[in-house]
Amino acid sequence: MTYRPSYAEINLDIIRSNYRLSCQLAPGSQHLAVIKANAYGHGAVPVAKILEGTAPAFAVAFMDEAIILREAGIRSPILVLEGCFRAQELALAAQQNFWLMLHSPEQIDMLEATPIPSPLTCWLKIDTGMHRLGIEAEHTAVMLQRLKNTGKLAQPPVLASHMANAEELHNAANQRQIEQLKQLARNNNSPLSLANSAALMQLPASHSDWNRPGIMLYGGSALIGRSEQIGLRPTMTVYSEIMAIRQLSEGAAVGYGGHWQAPAPSLIATVAIGYGDGYPRSTDSQCEVFLHGQRARVVGSVSMDMLAVDISHIPQAKVGDKVEIWGENIAVTELATRVNTLSYELLTRVNQRLPRRYIEA
Ligand SMILES: *Cc1c(COP(=O)(O)O)cnc(C)c1O
Repeated sequence: MTYRPSYAEINLDIIRSNYRLSCQLAPGSQHLAVIKANAYGHGAVPVAKILEGTAPAFAVAFMDEAIILREAGIRSPILVLEGCFRAQELALAAQQNFWLMLHSPEQIDMLEATPIPSPLTCWLKIDTGMHRLGIEAEHTAVMLQRLKNTGKLAQPPVLASHMANAEELHNAANQRQIEQLKQLARNNNSPLSLANSAALMQLPASHSDWNRPGIMLYGGSALIGRSEQIGLRPTMTVYSEIMAIRQLSEGAAVGYGGHWQAPAPSLIATVAIGYGDGYPRSTDSQCEVFLHGQRARVVGSVSMDMLAVDISHIPQAKVGDKVEIWGENIAVTELATRVNTLSYELLTRVNQRLPRRYIEA
C-alpha cells in the first residue's frame, strides 16, 4: 500500500505470452529470456518466476544480477552476458550454474589460472563488428582450444556474437555479421547464438541454436509495425492521478522557467509523476498522456515529482482522476521517439520510488 497514487502496473501473463510469441518466430531454436537491468525495469525476480519452466535459461549482464535471482529461488541456468570481472567469480559461477559468456583473452587467462570446484559452462563471445566485447574472429580456434585444455568446461562452448544494426533491415553489416559467425561455427563445429529481439523479429538468417530476446518480452521495440504484426503487447502501464486543476488565462506561464505559456484560456492539470520517477525531463516536448479516453499534451518543464497537462478539451476532468502515463494507449516506444530515445532507456529508468504492482491471472 502506498499513499501516492502513482505506480507501474506490470502484467506478468503478457510477459509470458510475449515470450511464447518470440519462441514461435524460430521454432527450431532455444530462447534465453534476457532479464538484465531488473528485467528492463519490470522486476527481475517476478519476471523470472513467471518464465521459469517455460524458458530454458535466463540472461543477465553481470554476476550480481544472477545472484539476486538465485537468492530468490530461481533454479534455471543463468547466462552472465559480461562474464566475470575478477577470478573469484569463477568458483561461484561453477557452484551456482551461472553460464559465463567469456569475451576477452583476460577472462580466459583467469579461467586457466583459477581452480574451480566443479565444471563450468562457458560461452565464447566473438567480435563480428560491434567492437564492444568479444575476441577477434581469427583467434576463435585458438581460444576454443585453450578453453578445452583447461579441462574445466561442463560442455563445449556456444559461439556467440551481438548484432550492431539489427533494427535496420537492409543494413549490409547484418549479413556480414551473420555470415562471419556462421562460418566460424561451421569451422569449429560449435553451437551458435546471435539474435537479439530485432534480429529474431526480422532477420531469420540470424536465428540459431540460442536466440536472446530481451526488449520484445516487454512489448517494446524499435520496430513498431512488426511488434503489432507478431502480436506483442505492452507489459508495463504507468499510472498516476490528477492532484490539482487550475484555469489559466491567456499568456499565463506554466512550470520552471515559464517555457510554456497558455496560447488561450486553458485548463491545466498537475499530475503526480515527474522525472524523479523516470519520466523523461523535457521543456518543450510533444509528449502526451491519456485520460478520460483521450490524449492530452504535457506542457511546460517536467518537474521532479509532477508534470502539467493541458486538459482544456476535457472539462469534466477532476482531481483524483486516473492518468495513463504510458502503456496501452501511449506506447512507451512512441513516448521514447518523441523525446529522442529508446523504449529500453525509459523502461530501465523507472525509478525504485515508483511502486510496481503485478497482475497475474
Ligand atoms: C541486452 C542483450 C540482448 C537482448 O537485446 P534486446 O535488443 O533487448 O533483445 C541480447 N544479447 C546481448 C549480448 C545483450 O547484451
